[in-house]
Amino acid sequence: MPHNDQGDHVLNESRVKARVHQYIEKHQEQLIGCTQALVRVDTVNPPGRNYRAMTDALLAHCQGLDLPAKVHRVPDQQVRRVLGSDEFPRYNLIARWDAGRPQTVHFNAHYDVVPGAGPWKFGGPFAPGLSGDALYGRGSGDMKGAIAALLMAVEALKATGAEPAFNVECSFTADEETGGQLGSGWIVKEGLVNADFAVVCEGAAGTQVGCGHNGVLWLEVELTGKAAHASSPEQGVNAFEAMASVVQQLQAYKRKLNAPQRCYVDFDGRSRNPTLNIGGAFSGGEGDKINTVPAYARFSLDRRLVPGEQLAAVERELRRAIERAAAPPCRVAAPLQIEPCVVAAEHALPQAFARAVQAVRRRAAGYRLSSGFTDLHYFAVDGGLPGIGYGVKGERIHGVDERVRVRDLVLTARTYAEFMLRGLEVH
Ligand SMILES: [Zn+2]
Repeated sequence: MPHNDQGDHVLNESRVKARVHQYIEKHQEQLIGCTQALVRVDTVNPPGRNYRAMTDALLAHCQGLDLPAKVHRVPDQQVRRVLGSDEFPRYNLIARWDAGRPQTVHFNAHYDVVPGAGPWKFGGPFAPGLSGDALYGRGSGDMKGAIAALLMAVEALKATGAEPAFNVECSFTADEETGGQLGSGWIVKEGLVNADFAVVCEGAAGTQVGCGHNGVLWLEVELTGKAAHASSPEQGVNAFEAMASVVQQLQAYKRKLNAPQRCYVDFDGRSRNPTLNIGGAFSGGEGDKINTVPAYARFSLDRRLVPGEQLAAVERELRRAIERAAAPPCRVAAPLQIEPCVVAAEHALPQAFARAVQAVRRRAAGYRLSSGFTDLHYFAVDGGLPGIGYGVKGERIHGVDERVRVRDLVLTARTYAEFMLRGLEVH
């Protein structure tokens, strides 16, 4: 290419970029309004309220942007199988901007929120309000603010006639707060994701790019003994004492998790080990009495997996430790299983996203692995897509007075837009 053409091309590109960023800065009010409108729809999960109303509102918003979108209803039979009831149907939205590019990036955000009882500054969790630069409301930080930022990025490109460097696919999904099986898990399994890379719009914020998260395994252990009068304990089987021996075995196992060979070294050089929380929930049976041999005991385990560990192997280890204690009939259930996932910081995707972050925030970007999980594993592990996490930086997430900074909403929208314009190439 002759020198002048290239010069024009670069100049033109930077003009387009500047227009996109100006558009977002100028439409801050719309960004706030969109976030507030999303917060007003009570999508508390469980049980999964107003999912239809939410996906309808998002569908209308996409249509307004001339962004082809479709709402997919999860078949009731599958909802029943997972939740035991189909009283609250599950819906997921997929939108796709086919820009005729060879590669596609899939952006995902969940629209469900956790319950929010308590004294909120603006009267309630679904009554959004602004105080200075802070936008209050349940979901403002996790993660309706990120949905609004993503939609604003798409709007800014469309409105200024800018072309994305890749096809943009978006999904707004249900149920992340309860594991995501019928949300992101479902769209990946159904083959509704047609992309080369994934960006989950949470898991890191500000100048950090999320390169993965720990895994988690929840187990529920139930021990069934035999009741007897406390004056003749030999006629009973003490479920509480049996639980105590199982717990001792698990404590021995837990100590081994600190071994150096179990350690995972993070991007910033910090090391982390797997963890085990024993008895986050525990209880006895209904017939418990001071003068009765306890016939029933149950307790929970929360085991966090670091990258490199696998669920199946970890579950085997735990079951072996439980079996090592001579115990009466013992039932072990696994209500939550999430594989850890990680993408190397040197990979083209986090590198490209970090360049977008740096361009917008004007500070060096770093990489992080979050200890809590997001839906990223569905895309990265089940879907096999290199994926990262990046969204708004919420405050008091899951708490009363959850909020997000308006400035952060704007910068996050600009970061998505910058990434869409730059693509994965180095320049
Ligand atoms: Zn979230």
